[in-house]
Amino acid sequence: MFSKKLDAAMSKQFNMELYSSYVYLAAASYLNSKNLEGFAHWMNLQVQEELQHAAKFYHYILERDGNLVLTDVKAPPKTFKSPLAACEAALAHERKNTKQINGLMDIAIAAKDHACAAFLQWFVDEQVEEEAQTSQLVENVKMVQDSGGALFMLDRELAKRQPTPTAEEA
Ligand code: FE
Ligand code: CA
Repeated sequence: MFSKKLDAAMSKQFNMELYSSYVYLAAASYLNSKNLEGFAHWMNLQVQEELQHAAKFYHYILERDGNLVLTDVKAPPKTFKSPLAACEAALAHERKNTKQINGLMDIAIAAKDHACAAFLQWFVDEQVEEEAQTSQLVENVKMVQDSGGALFMLDRELAKRQPTPTAEEA
């Protein structure tokens, strides 16, 4: 069992992972509507990753006899001003999520729950990758945003992104 505070915070993070998938889904559908199918593909792979993150929390919470509380998932942004704004929204969201994951780790450490801290370390490391890749995407869009031709080329590059292997496949 988790401490009471950690139990609630784990459910909150499960919800955050679902919300993360919603943010990427909103970006994907917006980018698709702008005919940026490579960008939309990149975002859709991220949707899948976020659902995998939610699944990791689901399984771990149940494994620890935690109390998984399912609550409303907040609606993501309805639209974006530009492709750059969609990518910047994803980056801002990842930064917020990193803060929440770090706060969750603080709660696990305060509860002296070493097993939970070990579980959460994967997410601490994952957030470094998430922020780095999303930040690189934003920088790339900034470089090309005034050139339709360059944006088209970047879209073709992003279309090549492959899914990250899951733990079972790796
Ligand atoms: Fe995530
Ligand atoms: Ca990732």
